[in-house]
Amino acid sequence: MANQLDELVHHDQTDDCPVCRAQNFVDLALIPAVAAWELNNELPRFSLALHGAAALLGVMLEEGVTREDVDAALSELLDDIERQIAETESENHLCAPITSAKRALRRSFCMSLKPGIRRESLRHQQKQDRKPRSTQAFN
Ligand SMILES: [Zn+2]
Repeated sequence: MANQLDELVHHDQTDDCPVCRAQNFVDLALIPAVAAWELNNELPRFSLALHGAAALLGVMLEEGVTREDVDAALSELLDDIERQIAETESENHLCAPITSAKRALRRSFCMSLKPGIRRESLRHQQKQDRKPRSTQAFN
């Protein structure tokens, strides 16, 4: 893929690789926030994720990135994500505690955005008699 997005798709192998930094931000902040917003606003699952992603890509088109370059970059990133999913699924057999801990971390971050939004999800939390978490950052 020889286009202007090439450097945004491939890791530069430095300690502060922009690809890794962007992916970490998306994993830690955007994915849980989008899931919470969908839930809080009674939107179908993935509705905000899909339209948010499309709108962000639309900004790139508005700013002159070609549709072909966006398509190529997106296709490559989705290929990588599918590879990661396959790797994670095969690792689940070997290190289920680690992946379930990651899932629990993501879920607890998501729930910290709006405690009390979903009783079923909070039941486990209430069993452990935790204090309500701060919602200041996203209010
Ligand atoms: Zn990287």
